[in-house]
Amino acid sequence: MSDSTVTPPTHFIHQIINQDLEKNKNEGRVHTRFPPEPNGYLHIGHAKSICLNFATAEAFKGHCNLRFDDTNPGNEELEYVDSIKDSIRWLGFDWGEREYFASSYFDQLYDFAIELIEQGKAYVCSLSAEEARAYRGTLTEPGKASPDRSRSVEENLDLFTRMKAAEFEDGAYTLRARIDMASPNINMRDPVLYRIRREHHHQTGDKWCIYPMYDYTHCISDALENITHSLCTLEFEDHRPLYDWVLDQIDALSHPQQIEFARLNINYTVLSKRKLKQLVDEGLVKGWDDPRMPTLDGMRRRGYTPSAIRHFCDMVGVTKANSIVEVEMLEHALRDDLDKTSPRAMCVLRPLKVVIKNYPADKTEEMLLPRHPKDESMGVRKIPFSREIYIERTDFEVEPPPGFKRLIPGGEVRLRGSYVIKCDEVLQDDHGNITELVCSCDEATLGAKPEGRKVKGVIHWVPASNALDVEVRLYDRLFSLENPDGVDGDYREFINPDSLQVFSGCKAEPSLANAQPEDRFQFEREGYFCVDKNDSSINSLVFNLTVSLRDNWAKKNKT
Ligand code: ATP
Ligand code: MG
Repeated sequence: MSDSTVTPPTHFIHQIINQDLEKNKNEGRVHTRFPPEPNGYLHIGHAKSICLNFATAEAFKGHCNLRFDDTNPGNEELEYVDSIKDSIRWLGFDWGEREYFASSYFDQLYDFAIELIEQGKAYVCSLSAEEARAYRGTLTEPGKASPDRSRSVEENLDLFTRMKAAEFEDGAYTLRARIDMASPNINMRDPVLYRIRREHHHQTGDKWCIYPMYDYTHCISDALENITHSLCTLEFEDHRPLYDWVLDQIDALSHPQQIEFARLNINYTVLSKRKLKQLVDEGLVKGWDDPRMPTLDGMRRRGYTPSAIRHFCDMVGVTKANSIVEVEMLEHALRDDLDKTSPRAMCVLRPLKVVIKNYPADKTEEMLLPRHPKDESMGVRKIPFSREIYIERTDFEVEPPPGFKRLIPGGEVRLRGSYVIKCDEVLQDDHGNITELVCSCDEATLGAKPEGRKVKGVIHWVPASNALDVEVRLYDRLFSLENPDGVDGDYREFINPDSLQVFSGCKAEPSLANAQPEDRFQFEREGYFCVDKNDSSINSLVFNLTVSLRDNWAKKNKT
């Protein structure tokens, strides 16, 4: 047994690799790749594939390539190439020098196509896309041979060379593999290998007007890079015979093994670049990195940590069975991480002024509150306490619902890390809106337990005179439907109209003055927030709600 086997195997793919290593297949090498098409930003589904490919390479002391599968220049852009690299680095993976583009193999792919033609295994076909579809047959009926299927090798070579030389219109011809028009697997019914497309390519410029198809390119790219295990999602299972067929026809190449696993689906979420692009293009969200988007850029801006995403991918596991994971599981992984690492702070979203009438106007005390209840190493924060403070408007009720433990007229409540106050008077404007509470505090209660006093509620507060004015953005699920990806109708009709709520004029404790973009905090009693990296400036901080405090998933799944 090779000493690089990993025991015990953590999932079926590692089991397969262990067996391969025992047989010394691939001379004991493990080499994977993550192959994004640069036609959009990466999403949380891609994170599953990234974690799988990079972590597998790491576990078996192998390598993982980053390869851009760039065979569709019309949909691809450099902006996407850059964002993809950024996201993978952010997740914490490093491809070192191993950055490749399928487009850099275009010359070799062309030579292999010539080789196939010379062997009589490929031919130039003049059927239009529509005709080809009609000839292809159905799941129950075999396909029909193209009239060009028996074209001579010489003629095929001539036409293919002229396709490359831009002698024909886009779509006039395709190069097709000659396999089996009666195959029960439609992918094997003479699939297209090349099509003519006058399209500028972000890597090769205008050098090519014919572009190879994904199925033809992917297997050869894997082989050229000496990949050992080509991990892809289940929808490629039916393409595996073609993957193997192409490599079997071609000389002097390694033959990687394609292994399929179930893609990640999450409820209340769409995970398809096409749909995500539509949301961006139609202005239904504010860009690919809108914090409501399941893109890695959006999640980053929202405040997700790379370790939470990686942990989530571990929890989901790698299987052959498609399923939909609950978004609560993702949020659980996130809270778990944020609870340990986020300093605490107080922020009032809807400020209500409180004047503590028996507290001297010229007095200020410095309240010391721990930055973290369980981690003393984070130190303390200082919050000046004086006569005027703000509390959350929703922490006061004139007519409290049953079980309300916060402030009511004549009632008492403890201010977090400070005094117990009592509400003596409620001031209102001409319209009956509450404008201010006049309270009194009991000096004996500072730091002490409010013994014999039955003060159940603890609320957060900020000092009025040196609070920071901040903007807070609350987010909810982007879709109000559990399975927006599975609806018959238009998934866009199920966008949650309340997925973004903006609160300007929020008041935050002064210790946040030095918060930097992407810093994360737990706003006590509210949730986890992070400083928006795009819209914050030194004088005006914007906080994004990352996730609320309540964790239903943990409770629901307790055994
Ligand atoms: P989408 O379906 O969102 O358009 P894609 O498959 O077209 O994604 P690629 O850029 O081709 O996007 O994906 C790169 C890799 O990520 C592929 O190996 C693909 O199988 C994998 N991948 C994409 N979506 C998921 C997902 N939801 N779960 C797991 N892996 C995924
Ligand atoms: Mg794809």
